[in-house]
Amino acid sequence: MTSTDKKAFINFSPPLIGEEEIQEVVDTLRSGWLTTGPKTSCFEENFSKYTESKHALALNSCTAGLHLALAALKVGPGDEVITTPFTFCATANVIEHVGARPIFVDINPDTLNINKELINSAITDRTRAIIPVHYAGRPCDMKALENISAKREIPLIEDAAHCTEGISQDRKIGSISRFTCFSFYATKNLCTGEGGMITVQNDEDAELIRVLRLHGMSRDAWKRNTPGADVLYDVHSPGFKYNMTDIQAAIGIHQLKKLHKHLKRREEIFEMYDHGLKDLPLVLPSPVKEGDRHARHIYNVLLTDEAPLKRADFIKELTARGVGSAVHFTALHQFSYYQEKYGYKPEDYPVASDVSARTVSLPLSPALTDAQIERVIETVIDILS
Ligand SMILES: *Cc1c(COP(=O)(O)O)cnc(C)c1O
Repeated sequence: MTSTDKKAFINFSPPLIGEEEIQEVVDTLRSGWLTTGPKTSCFEENFSKYTESKHALALNSCTAGLHLALAALKVGPGDEVITTPFTFCATANVIEHVGARPIFVDINPDTLNINKELINSAITDRTRAIIPVHYAGRPCDMKALENISAKREIPLIEDAAHCTEGISQDRKIGSISRFTCFSFYATKNLCTGEGGMITVQNDEDAELIRVLRLHGMSRDAWKRNTPGADVLYDVHSPGFKYNMTDIQAAIGIHQLKKLHKHLKRREEIFEMYDHGLKDLPLVLPSPVKEGDRHARHIYNVLLTDEAPLKRADFIKELTARGVGSAVHFTALHQFSYYQEKYGYKPEDYPVASDVSARTVSLPLSPALTDAQIERVIETVIDILS
C-alpha cells in the first residue's frame, strides 16, 4: 500500500526527505570523508545563523547536548537540577547521569510548560541549573525564566527538542540561554535520523563543549587530517563520544533549508485540527501568545470527562481505523525508576499527572496530505460521537 491508498495506515510522524538530502548523502559517501568534517561545519554555521546564536555545535543527539551542558557546568553528586515532569525521559535521565537529583516543578495547565510561578519555591542552595522544555513546540516564557536565572544566579539549559523554529517574545530559541539543545531525531521537525545541536552564547563554554563532545581531545580528526597539521593531540579530560557525522549533517543541511516551508505546512495542519475538532469532548492546544512562534511539533488533545471512552480505548480505536498516535508524555514521576527512587505520588504534580493521563498526539508532519488529515479528523469525530 502507498500513502495515497484510502485505507493505508496514517503514520504519526513520517519524515519528509527529498532528493536534495539523498543526493547530499550520496555526495558524502563518495567524498572519502564520513565522520565530522566539512558538511558538519557547514551545517553548524547555517544552524547558528538560523537560530541567531553565537556558536552551534553539532552532536549525535539532543540528549548528548543536555548531558554536555551539565558536564560543562560541573553539575554532580549533591547538586539539584530543576525541570518539568512533563517531558521525554532524556531530560531527567541526564541529570541522573551526572549524579545529581532532578527536582520536578509542575506544569501550567494552559501552556503545559513548567509553571514559572512554582520555580522559586523549588530553588535551594544546591540548585545548579534549570532545564525548561518547550513542550510540543510552544516556547516557554523565556523573559520570566531569565529573570529567575539572573536573580538566583542559576544557568538555564533549554531543552528545545520540540522547538527548533521557536521564537519567545521576538527572540529566537537558541539565542537566549547559556545552553540550548535541539534534537534531529527521526520524528523531529528537522530530522537527520539521529542527531542534535547545542547552541552556546559564550566562547569558553563553546570551547569546552567542543572538546568534551569528542573524548576530551584537543584536535578532532578533520583538523588532524588537513595537510601540514599536527597529527598528535592531547586529552584535556575524559570526554564523550557525542560528535555528529557528515552523513547526518548532509541530511541536516537540506532539512534546515526546508524548515520554514515545512513549518508553514505544520501550521496549516494545526489549523485544520483546531477547526475540525473544536466541538468534541477534547481540550485543544491553547492559542499562541503574541510575539511567540510555536514550532508546531506536536498536536496533542486532552480527552475530557465527557468523552465516551477512556484514553487507552481511544488509542485502540484510532489504531484499528488506521490512524497512528502517540502519548507525549507519561509524566516522569510516574515511571518506576523515578517513582521508586524518590517515592513520588501522582498528587505531587497534580497538573502533570492529570494531563499525562488524558493526552493523545495526533498525526502531524509536512509529509501528510490534506486528505490524510481530513481522514484523521473524521475518524476522531466518529470515535467520539
Ligand atoms: C526527542 C526529545 C529529546 C531527546 O532527543 P534525542 O535527539 O533523541 O536525544 C529530549 N527531550 C525531548 C523533550 C524530546 O522530545
